[in-house]
Amino acid sequence: MEPNQNDKSGDGSGKSGRNNPNIAGFLIIGLVITFVLNTFIGNWVADRKVQIEYGQFIQLVESGSVRQVQIETDQIALTLKNDADRNRVAGILRLDAAARDAGGPLVLNQGRQSDHQVYYTGRLDDPGLTERLIANEVAFYKPIIRSNPITNFVSSWIFPLLIFYGLYYIIMRNFTSRMGGLGGMMQVGKSKAKHYDMEKNTGVTFNDVAGQDEAKESLSEMVDFLHSPEKYRTIGAIQPKGALLVGPPGTGKTLLAKAVAGEAKVPFFFLSGSEFVEMYVGVGASRVRDLFAEAAKRAPCIIFIDEIDAIGKSRDNQLGSNDEREQTLNQLLAEMDGFASSKGILILAATNRPDVLDKALLRPGRFDRRVIVEKPDLVGREAILAVHAKKVSLDAGVDFREIALATSGATGADLANMVNEAALRAVRLGRTRVIQEDLIEAVEVVIAGKEKKDRILNPREKRMVAFHEVGHALASALQKGGQPVHKITIVPRTMGSLGYTMNMPEEERYLMTRSELLTRITALLAGRAAEDVEFGEMSTGASNDIEEATKLARSMVTQYGMSDKFGMMSLESRQNQYLDGRNVFTASEATGADVDREVSRILGECYAKALELLRVNREKLREIAECLLEKETISGVRFMEILQDRKTA
Ligand code: ADP
Ligand code: MG
Ligand code: ZN
Repeated sequence: MEPNQNDKSGDGSGKSGRNNPNIAGFLIIGLVITFVLNTFIGNWVADRKVQIEYGQFIQLVESGSVRQVQIETDQIALTLKNDADRNRVAGILRLDAAARDAGGPLVLNQGRQSDHQVYYTGRLDDPGLTERLIANEVAFYKPIIRSNPITNFVSSWIFPLLIFYGLYYIIMRNFTSRMGGLGGMMQVGKSKAKHYDMEKNTGVTFNDVAGQDEAKESLSEMVDFLHSPEKYRTIGAIQPKGALLVGPPGTGKTLLAKAVAGEAKVPFFFLSGSEFVEMYVGVGASRVRDLFAEAAKRAPCIIFIDEIDAIGKSRDNQLGSNDEREQTLNQLLAEMDGFASSKGILILAATNRPDVLDKALLRPGRFDRRVIVEKPDLVGREAILAVHAKKVSLDAGVDFREIALATSGATGADLANMVNEAALRAVRLGRTRVIQEDLIEAVEVVIAGKEKKDRILNPREKRMVAFHEVGHALASALQKGGQPVHKITIVPRTMGSLGYTMNMPEEERYLMTRSELLTRITALLAGRAAEDVEFGEMSTGASNDIEEATKLARSMVTQYGMSDKFGMMSLESRQNQYLDGRNVFTASEATGADVDREVSRILGECYAKALELLRVNREKLREIAECLLEKETISGVRFMEILQDRKTA
């Protein structure tokens, strides 16, 4: 994978302009707080001191009441020797205060005198002071660190500001990481660096996308638009502005979009719809603006919006409406209309829920093309395996066709994952090449989870599981049109199964007939039937089978028109085609009860058939189950051998 390069240049210019006002704002707040604190603390300290006149000071010194003085640049602070003196001074001060009334008494807080009460007086130019202090045995000193204006300034202004800056830094960093990379409240919406990635060259080509030929075909036209726009302009054709890639997750939509950019050799702007919508209204819209502005500078280029349904959800049929999303969507629509397609910006978007998209997005002139990206078929899967296997060293005996057959319904992402799992397994087992067994095991890991060897079943449980699985296998093998058995195992797996039977179709099927569906349901129910036949008991191990069988039977009745009772009446409609959504029942409630009865009847018939099949072949069931108990895993080939031996014997 190419590392995504964040677009540095698009961001660099804006960055300083964006950050400075915030720091400045923060510092101004800091300054105000510092000012308030300075004044407050200054006053508070002043409160603790009582100012006296210089004359009183001299008088106190002469009367021997002063213990010590501290001579500072502009004032002299003094403490007295004992309570008697203090009271005396307090008395004098009170008298003074009374005498001078409110006309600016120099006295503050006389009630607060305590042991540490400090008095002070302004410092006069008094040459005789030193001698007088010595004569009266007053301890006096000047502070060594003189409070000069510069240190004063630093300690009361610069230092607090530095602390505020530190706080700002820490808060912003926390905030940023929590907000997913945004610069916090003050710059929400302006920041764009993390909201899309830009790759100058994706390095992905159509060769990296296996299968998906139809999608590639429609997209290669887009590549051509970007390559040689004149060709289209001269004939008067208007180049489409956007295409919507529609398909289930993991089918390669993102990969295809990158491949278009790679083929056209143009920059690729990638962003995810869900990242666009924030909790603040207006943010998404401003991001859309930013993105298009940046893209316009770099045209021709491709903008890819992943998961566009996050913004593009239909604006009606909403319970609470979402202002933010609507604004973002409107902005997107406006931008799409705004740029002339001759500019060479192509917008690709991906979704797996095309049904919920706003109609406005889909009208001609916006996402007017729809490219369907389906789950790969057999040939597609084989090709995808081959593409991904190029990156690992393979043993000569590897057969992709077999793996592709076993992985019906798997997406490109699943297959890529399987190849990697296989390579990991090969390394784990000390091999330098991936062999077929690794791949098959990887398929099973993806389908059923890893083997769970430490889960010990008690012998009775184990027996039951073995019979259950052989029941499935026999029902598959003995019915006409049943799927061949590939493997039976009773090694528990992490995803909850205690054992399983793996069927492998001989070919890819696109249709299933009614009798094939019934065969399948019978095979699913045969696990439970085997428990019943052998032990006259039932276990909880059949729950998945029952669920699956019920789903099939229900679809037969409600969707496929295969029941005698309802005929070809559609009773359910499918919700979202590309995700495994629920089906919605469309008929009346009374019909619903009838449907349930019909489904139950089908299941009952199939179960009866499975029971009968296993009763008739009870010896085979036992024989194979014993073999499975002993070996824990038997291959489809071995299974057929035992089965056919019995038949011919
Ligand atoms: P989507 O966007 O449709 O959910 P991605 O494009 O993200 O799927 O596909 C995920 C991964 O699956 C890709 O990185 C790629 O490795 C693999 N993949 C999917 N489809 C294909 C394909 N057709 N050919 C090759 N690799 C594929
Ligand atoms: Mg994707
Ligand atoms: Zn089962």
